[in-house]
Amino acid sequence: MKKWTNRGHEFDALGKRFKKKPEILLIGDKSECERIREKLLFLGVKIDISPIEQFKTIGNIQKFILGYRFKSKTILVVDSNPYESGLFISGIEKNFSLKRNEDIFWINDFLDYYLSIFAVYVAEKIYFSSNCFICTTVCNLNCKNCLNFKPYDRNLQHYNIDSLKKSVDLYFSVIDRVGLFHISGGEPFLYPHLNELLTYIGEKYRDKIDILGTVTNTTVIPDDTLCEILKKYNIRVEVDDYTKTIPQLKNNYNNLVKKLKEFCIWTQINVAGVNWKWFSVLPSKKDWTNATEEMLIKKFNDCNNPFMEFKKDKIHLCCYSEFAAQAGLITQNSTELYDISKFNNKNKKELIEFRLGYSEKGYAEFCKYCNGLPVINPTAEVPAEQASGKLSWDKNTPCQLG
Ligand code: SF4
Ligand code: SF4
Repeated sequence: MKKWTNRGHEFDALGKRFKKKPEILLIGDKSECERIREKLLFLGVKIDISPIEQFKTIGNIQKFILGYRFKSKTILVVDSNPYESGLFISGIEKNFSLKRNEDIFWINDFLDYYLSIFAVYVAEKIYFSSNCFICTTVCNLNCKNCLNFKPYDRNLQHYNIDSLKKSVDLYFSVIDRVGLFHISGGEPFLYPHLNELLTYIGEKYRDKIDILGTVTNTTVIPDDTLCEILKKYNIRVEVDDYTKTIPQLKNNYNNLVKKLKEFCIWTQINVAGVNWKWFSVLPSKKDWTNATEEMLIKKFNDCNNPFMEFKKDKIHLCCYSEFAAQAGLITQNSTELYDISKFNNKNKKELIEFRLGYSEKGYAEFCKYCNGLPVINPTAEVPAEQASGKLSWDKNTPCQLG
């Protein structure tokens, strides 16, 4: 459970283990390992690669392990298949005195979680797996189950470009490297200063960002200037395909995808949910307002939301809790944000703990109302179903279904 009990020292045991194994050994497909090595160069530690071909049998592994000075190495298995990686790792665990998630890791687990701990303990660097960064709450769709609560928000706005730039400067004065910096909305392509913002981030901080991304609902075709910027800074555009629910978007969708292709822009098509099913975080399906602290901490833990927003100098424990506050649905609680304008180098480990979900209360204010992400809240809604006009919800009567 992620309520702080030993603030600044929550990961000391694992950190101590990493310090004894400060080098990295990547095992896997050679070109994939090279790609991962690039990502990890910011650590400034020695990184070796061993192609997977050497590991076809446990005998080969034994020869390798015995012949290799692996003791100083944290081992990462670079394979996109979790099942195959799991088998490989359990083979090694069974035959050698190595432990999963202490000595040997599946690469995705490492990048999503453990790298932040490794980076701060071994290299004194701050690594975040991701952050979302909102430039506007304005959107020209009105999805009933919008995770930014657009239909509920009576104060939609484009954020001030100078403030956004200042925030970005502050963020990168503290964070050494981020896996995904996601510029989101609202509909980002409606933001009037998007070109300026992307150019600013691209010019000053692109080398600190693994994936610089944005997203669009396909209603706006970017002009050539924006396309050049997206291409120049290798910005990934996520295209939310809502055409099944909103067939009128088909033309725009096709034209957008065609244009992104023409400009050789990194594009990722998102088809919502599983089997075209989405989920609703509001209205509440259950009244959690009288839930005990223990129940809320468990809910936060089970929901396991990996997404945090960075806004106005602050990292927010759960982006959806912040979006709900921005939409005027709840009042923000100061224990669920981390003000990095007050950061000093002594707080590095504490900041990493916060980014990995630790906080004073161990849950977010919105956990008292929100149904949670699909892991605790099965998908049953039509993605991008449009609401007619504004929606209302009152936190004093949270269960307003029907
Ligand atoms: S497209 Fe829909 S889900 Fe996305 S911001 Fe707009 S209203 Fe929300
Ligand atoms: S239950 Fe809702 S508010 Fe709580 S962590 Fe999950 S998404 Fe965030």
